Amino acid sequence: MNVLVINAGSSSLKYQLINLETKHILAKGICERVGSAEAFHKHGLDENERVIDAEMRDHDDAMALVLEALTSGPTKAVDSLDEIDAVGHRIVQGGWYFDRSVLIDDDVIAKIDELAELAPLHNKAALMGIHACQKHMPSTPMVAVFDTSFFQSLPPKAYMYPLPYELYEKYHIRKYGAHGTSHRYISERAAAVLGEPLDELKLITCHLGNGCSMSAIDHGVAVDTSMGLTPLDGLMMGTRCGAIDPAIVPYIMDKEGLDAAGVNDLMNKQSGLLGISGISNDLRSVRDASEKGDERAMLAYDMYSNSVKKYIGQYMAVMGGVDAIVLTAGVGENCEKMRRMIFAGLQPLGIVLDEAKNRQRGFEREISSDSSKVKVIIIPTNEEYMIARDTYDIVHEHSQIVPVSHAE
Ligand code: AMP
Repeated sequence: MNVLVINAGSSSLKYQLINLETKHILAKGICERVGSAEAFHKHGLDENERVIDAEMRDHDDAMALVLEALTSGPTKAVDSLDEIDAVGHRIVQGGWYFDRSVLIDDDVIAKIDELAELAPLHNKAALMGIHACQKHMPSTPMVAVFDTSFFQSLPPKAYMYPLPYELYEKYHIRKYGAHGTSHRYISERAAAVLGEPLDELKLITCHLGNGCSMSAIDHGVAVDTSMGLTPLDGLMMGTRCGAIDPAIVPYIMDKEGLDAAGVNDLMNKQSGLLGISGISNDLRSVRDASEKGDERAMLAYDMYSNSVKKYIGQYMAVMGGVDAIVLTAGVGENCEKMRRMIFAGLQPLGIVLDEAKNRQRGFEREISSDSSKVKVIIIPTNEEYMIARDTYDIVHEHSQIVPVSHAE
């Protein structure tokens, strides 16, 4: 079965075509700057990637180009649209409605639209992707996979904010989390790497990239996570500030003459590594500058690692210990220096890195020392595969497709 995974942003449309039986990526690409005169389409696997300048007034046009590239010419991956059995859509906000992935119908579309209040750019963009697929592939089943659904298991003591209760009742203000598909994937893979059942493990999962989030997964169930009502909360990130004293918000608005949109922009786009270093949101540039002695870059680096360290402590306390800490995404997978700083001094908590293993490159691997009570594991995330797998499972439930094994 071939599943087309779609991740639609407000001006982009990212996709992968995955064969679930072989787990091979048949094709992938992205349409960028959709709706502008500079729109272009990148299509192909690694060395065969091609960039095609193309006119794309909207997501409908982008989708038409994607399907054409998948089925014809030198970029062809399948003979016809009939060989695309289902489409899986990444949806950022599933709110209180969705605690799992679902088959898309009119009711699901209406709910995604209603939840756009909580994630205006993201959910509206996802709907454009859904409508474009409905137009071009009207009889192909579609599944919605939500970034938030993995965290619907959080207990009220973790998801409620200590604000007047009526705000929760009136506006659904609570923690929803984000990056859930990534946390779910790496927790499953970590259990496989450890050779233990997921439901017997206490895990802390860390998605450390440009966006950063951590979660506490107790016996396979997410019990806390660092992102909140929106993906601004929690850890310090590339351009996002993460958790700060909320009284700073009205104070800055007053001092800088900013309105709500202005302060929101400052916290989402001008803060984090970029805001502190004044150099970049990219950790590599901040690291290089810090190694040349730039003090603000050094501070940004220190603050980033300290932010992760504090959540490790919190989540160990929440779960009464931890068996393994799992790292993923650009920083978690690749930055040995940041990993060294995060775990420095955690020996009293039973967490010891193996310096040599930390320096090695590779795929899924353990980097803690043999004496470490707590295992530290790197798992490259694969949200697209997870979306394809959910799509396959749900479409299979609703039809008579012969199931494939997901065991790896
Ligand atoms: P992501 O959002 O997962 O793509 O991660 C992006 C972040 O990962 C950026 O801050 C990059 O600087 C960082 N990153 C990617 N590769 C490396 C590397 N080899 N060493 C250090 N940081 C890296």
